[in-house]
Amino acid sequence: MNRRPLLALPALLLAGHAAAEANDRLSVVASFSILGDMVGRIGGERIALRTIAGPDVDAHAFQPRPSDAVALRGARLVVRNGLGFDAWIDRLLRSAGGAGTVVTATDGIAPRSMEAHRHEHGPAARRQQSGAGPRLVPDPHAWQDLRHGQAYLRTIAAALITADPAGEETYRRNAETQLARLAALDSWVRAQIATVPEAQRKVVTSHDAFGYFAAAYGVTFLAPQGVSTEGEPSAAEVGRLIRQIREQRITAVFLENMANPATLRRLAAEAGVQVGGRLFADALSPPGGPAPDYEAMFRHNVGLLVPAMRGAA
Ligand SMILES: [Zn+2]
Repeated sequence: MNRRPLLALPALLLAGHAAAEANDRLSVVASFSILGDMVGRIGGERIALRTIAGPDVDAHAFQPRPSDAVALRGARLVVRNGLGFDAWIDRLLRSAGGAGTVVTATDGIAPRSMEAHRHEHGPAARRQQSGAGPRLVPDPHAWQDLRHGQAYLRTIAAALITADPAGEETYRRNAETQLARLAALDSWVRAQIATVPEAQRKVVTSHDAFGYFAAAYGVTFLAPQGVSTEGEPSAAEVGRLIRQIREQRITAVFLENMANPATLRRLAAEAGVQVGGRLFADALSPPGGPAPDYEAMFRHNVGLLVPAMRGAA
């Protein structure tokens, strides 16, 4: 009977120690890698950050793990993108419980629309395609416009200050630094695009994540006509694509699902284009890759797009 308090004592000490450590830093969960980078840059050393859908992970189709529910339950602040991008985090929050504040990074941003079927996969997407017409949904990829990226930063900074008022000065300072960096990057992107003759600012890609980029920076993104975005295209499909590329005089073609060397050789020979590089749209690369943070992602994408549009790739 008196053994219980003795055994419980070390456990209590451990629990007390863990609580003190956790209390040192504000526990924050970000839904996906790009948001995680933004939150980390503003929160710095004051926060303990966990990003749920990490580098190279498709956050659209993300399947949360039990450990994600545990992290959410303990979070004081949860940062999600919203606009349907990371809706799984809402379901996870409902099942996991937790008393943390949820902040939506796209709050206050006027969303663009996109065709639902182009961003879905599997049988549902095919059903949609055979239907009467495309269903329009809010386009969640607002971070592809750096001015929206700046709005994200302001929203995140405000949420951190509310959750941890003692850190206000740090959060404000970090946010100001990042806002200035993104403003400079935005000018750089515009200057880069300006080096491409206006008629050549066209890209063929199966990515449909660049609607905000297109609107912000004056680049037209065209879907490959008659080519399935899943798997290798047939010879007839490649023929249609070559016609499209020639008719519209496009030199920038980014089709990552197309890996067959024979297809790529035919495109190069008949359409006169190289199918070039990998654009990062919805997730960062791992550290050491070409797009390990939000700024690097922009520099990488623009660094591929601009020479390709100029026909110099
Ligand atoms: Zn996407």
